[in-house]
Amino acid sequence: MIIASNFKTNYTRGSAKAFIQAIQAFIANTKSEQQVRIFAPFTALDRFDEVETLKVGAQNFYPVQNGSFTGEIGFEQLEEFGIQTVLIGHSERRHILKESQSLSAQKYDFAKARESEIIYCIGEPAEIRVQGIDAVMSYLWEQFEGIDISYDKLIIAYEPVWAIGTGLTASLEDIEEVLTRLRDKLCAPLLYGGSVKVENIETILHVNACDGVLVGTASWNENAFCEMIRIA
Ligand code: PEP
Repeated sequence: MIIASNFKTNYTRGSAKAFIQAIQAFIANTKSEQQVRIFAPFTALDRFDEVETLKVGAQNFYPVQNGSFTGEIGFEQLEEFGIQTVLIGHSERRHILKESQSLSAQKYDFAKARESEIIYCIGEPAEIRVQGIDAVMSYLWEQFEGIDISYDKLIIAYEPVWAIGTGLTASLEDIEEVLTRLRDKLCAPLLYGGSVKVENIETILHVNACDGVLVGTASWNENAFCEMIRIA
């Protein structure tokens, strides 16, 4: 199982470090074997003592090693902190920051060439969901344009846009239907994301074809995140 936390634009350098160290201690004390990922803000990236099951990742980067891209973070700056896992295609980047599929694909190629693990996010907005599963799947497949799905360090996160940060979770049937259709064509581990919390993680992890979860809001509480790792 993969349990990933997305801090988004939360936590200071100090509070993120304390959180990550607490999770490391929990993993060590409980001998947890779950694969945990924490996507911290850039300002909180640090050289954390690696434990095999916990990786700290970057929520974003610009697909260059370095260069003149004011305000962006290149891969050289991530490598300095030993970052080995990145998020690409998160719905907040696609919808709020208007990132195109072509930019997501450029980032993907770049991270793949550097042999980084990639958690690649896909998801449909509410107006597509109401049109039914075929509309949902064709919308999702479009988000694979330019993406090499055979990459062996690829993890896919299915995150319905309408379920992210809203408290609304997709039904277990809907999650299963999408994940099993993705599974037919993809070998990569499949995560679900969208208002996962302590109360619903267990049933979600039991969904056929679900290999883990990507959690935002509910993971920002240390005890809750530890409890989710324990349940997994
Ligand atoms: C996310 O940001 O990837 C996410 C799933 O957020 P939340 O858990 O808050 O819906």
